[in-house]
Amino acid sequence: MVQTLTAPTIQIQRQGAPKRAQDAYGRFMTYLRISLTDRCNFRCVYCMPATGMQFQPRDEILTDEELLRVVHLCTKLGFRKLRLTGGEPTIRPHLVDLIREMKKFPGVEEISMTTNGLLLGRMAQDLRDAGLDRVNVSIDTLDAEKFKLITRGGRLDLVLQGIEAAQEAGMRPIKLNAVVVKGHNEHEVADLAALTFKHDWEVRFLEIMPMEGVGVVYDEGLITSEQTQAELERQFGQLFPVATDPSDPARLWQIPGAKGKIGFISPISAPFCASCNRVRLTADGKLRLCLLRQDEIDFRDHLRAGASDHDLEEMLLAGIWRKPWGHGIAEGDRQIGRGMSQIGG
Ligand code: SAM
Repeated sequence: MVQTLTAPTIQIQRQGAPKRAQDAYGRFMTYLRISLTDRCNFRCVYCMPATGMQFQPRDEILTDEELLRVVHLCTKLGFRKLRLTGGEPTIRPHLVDLIREMKKFPGVEEISMTTNGLLLGRMAQDLRDAGLDRVNVSIDTLDAEKFKLITRGGRLDLVLQGIEAAQEAGMRPIKLNAVVVKGHNEHEVADLAALTFKHDWEVRFLEIMPMEGVGVVYDEGLITSEQTQAELERQFGQLFPVATDPSDPARLWQIPGAKGKIGFISPISAPFCASCNRVRLTADGKLRLCLLRQDEIDFRDHLRAGASDHDLEEMLLAGIWRKPWGHGIAEGDRQIGRGMSQIGG
């Protein structure tokens, strides 16, 4: 069943509110997802077109200095968790140095990264040493041929080596993300879930979202978390629920006898907007208030025009104040505008 959202009617006043990143519904923003690039070394069928992807010119992407300045301001206003994403974050030059610098900002409790894992095998230890706490690795199937089809050329063996390298480097917990795509991997979810017998990993299944670039695979239709759970229960028997942090978009479950956990992320069938504590910084310096809404605040041009820290702080606070209540997407809707790789998934 697809659930739609109604905004609460009570809003608070900004005047007199503490100087913290907070929206008009009283939600504190503590989690910043930072896109380091819009480029990627995979072309997943639900994310980018096979050919003709338009990438942004390099001079439109925030420089390291600009990026660190915005992130530092965010941490001063209450952001505690930073997640690096993209595009593919591991292809950003100076990634290790960026992590080392971000880790020094007061108030930063955790730095994590969402990655396709391809380059983790050789980078994991350096990233960990610089201060990366953990990774979410995207992996939609354990079948090497299907993996190649979904990622349009990706090598599963290297991704699996990357996950092992992250584990050996001491990153915890290891989380794996699989987008469940009708006609591609909906009958393979059990193989991924079975990894939790051997490892204390969290294997999370995501509903496909109607982003630009999602292509025909979206038109095939949504596999809801409920359907994925039913598929897993056919194989493993009833899952049992596990306590979940309310700000975590995943609802957690466990297979009886497993070490790890299963997560369901259901932005379409059971939106988690009420507990949303996140905003996104795109690689080209826009603060994106909601993944599925076009509203963005431009920082790059202000940075380049010489805005003071005070001006930028005010922009951040005022922008976050107007964060929309919910994503407003229902099953069948087609999102226009920027795709997941351009926003930072
Ligand atoms: N390249 C990195 C990776 O593969 O994890 C980070 C960027 S990728 C855009 C971030 C996440 O978004 C991945 O887990 C990917 O599977 C997910 N994603 C991309 N397009 C999606 C869509 N249309 N619906 C749901 N998830 C999507």
